[in-house]
Amino acid sequence: MTAPPPALPAKLHPLVRTFLDSPDAVAQALSRFGAPAHLVFPQVYAENLGTFRAVLDRHLSSYRICYAHKANQSRAFVRTAEHAGIAIDVASPQELACAIGAGFGPTRIEVTGPKGEVFLRELIDCGVTINVDNLWELHRIAELAGDDAGVPVLLRISGFDAGQVSRFGLPLNHIRRAFDVLSAHRGRITFLGFAFHLDSGDTAERIRAVDACLALVEQAYGHGLTPTVLNIGGGFRQVFTADADRFDAYVHALRESLLGRGESMSWGSNTFGYHVADGAVHGIPVFHKYANTIPATTMLDDVLTAPLERHGGRTVAEVASDNLLDFWLEPGKGLVDHAGVTVAKVEFVKEIADGTVLVNLDLSRDSVTPADQEVMVDPLVLPGTAHRPAPDAGAVAARAESAPVGVYFAGRLCLERDLITNHKVWLAHGPSPGDLVVFPNTGAYHMDLSAATASMRPPPIKLAVTHRAGSFQVCRDGDYEPSGPAAIPPQRHSAPRQPVPHRTAEAP
Ligand SMILES: *Cc1c(COP(=O)(O)O)cnc(C)c1O
Repeated sequence: MTAPPPALPAKLHPLVRTFLDSPDAVAQALSRFGAPAHLVFPQVYAENLGTFRAVLDRHLSSYRICYAHKANQSRAFVRTAEHAGIAIDVASPQELACAIGAGFGPTRIEVTGPKGEVFLRELIDCGVTINVDNLWELHRIAELAGDDAGVPVLLRISGFDAGQVSRFGLPLNHIRRAFDVLSAHRGRITFLGFAFHLDSGDTAERIRAVDACLALVEQAYGHGLTPTVLNIGGGFRQVFTADADRFDAYVHALRESLLGRGESMSWGSNTFGYHVADGAVHGIPVFHKYANTIPATTMLDDVLTAPLERHGGRTVAEVASDNLLDFWLEPGKGLVDHAGVTVAKVEFVKEIADGTVLVNLDLSRDSVTPADQEVMVDPLVLPGTAHRPAPDAGAVAARAESAPVGVYFAGRLCLERDLITNHKVWLAHGPSPGDLVVFPNTGAYHMDLSAATASMRPPPIKLAVTHRAGSFQVCRDGDYEPSGPAAIPPQRHSAPRQPVPHRTAEAP
């Protein structure tokens, strides 16, 4: 026996695993609604939300979760969020319309991201909370709002660490100008507090940002303002891999192959963001997030329990509570983790001149990943109904290639670059036309963040899969309705609760 081939085993939620293992369940859904398809699992989303709430409940009496809609266009997730009583973070007129259509009232909607004139006017009219990105926006709100409009506003801050460049948010050193606008327009603008959002998975960076925002709260009081919200954004990581050691071994073999050692493992001249020079592989690959093993809720717990030096070692959660601050967060991928997969069909298998095997699918790369990324999780192959060996021995023998085979998955577009995997994937045996290929955990930013309608092909259909009363039910994403009693949304922040800022070690 030789060593098993390099592999990137996927972590799967048990509910998703059970659905994929149910005989013909996936094939039946596809034959009923069409292929390829994105499958979303709202119950997994709801479970993720439960784990976030459990962590928050342990440390805080007052918090608000705003689901970051941009992680997925799924209406089923938005309905699940609404039904569960949380808030939503939207970043476009279309996401706003989806949220309103799914039942969110303005007091549970927060709008982030860059907003142009037209969108800004719409937001002021709707009465949603505006998370302000820049001074132009703030000035424009002050100009457009009626005298007593009291437009609820958060200030998004950035530039906490020197050398950390972000295109978003108000740089820390422009804050005086923002305070001046807010003080001059109290009737028009209701200043709720400070926000940030970091893409990084670095907890220390997040804690420095929290600390800087707490200092801003104190400064704001000096300007006669009374902020009550601290919004720490999203960025809570996903866990893709089921086996960190095998992941590391795969990456090791891939790096070796880039140096010309062992079997080639990359399509064309791909180096995945590595820089190959002087007989060594340098740098951080584009796929580094797939190596993560720390769950979102552990990251959140770490932030909440981090001691703050400037506050006598009291934790982030304690300082927020002491100061009667409402703690907000905007998880996107953390809520969607493991709540979606993408299924395609094998059209044909071909061998090219150098012997490389290509498995051609009825899907394009942008339906499972943005082009500049590389999904480092092995897809699963489910035998197609037509090719499942019959119980008699002759048919079993028909499955010719029974040894592991290293392949690349190719897309349906007439473009050289439409390779779904640019890294080699080993399958237990060569697939056949009609087999189904499942890409795990594509719910967040994989399935529809970058999908285009190239060659006039529509994107895959989106279906919601639910387990109810002992069986799976599949419907169109847009038709999904959560079951059970709806949660009562928490009351909104603007109830004029007089904050008595508990001054900390630094207090005057
Ligand atoms: C994208 C985004 C989020 C969600 O980020 P995740 O990494 O998916 O948690 C939250 N807030 C803002 C402002 C964003 O742009």
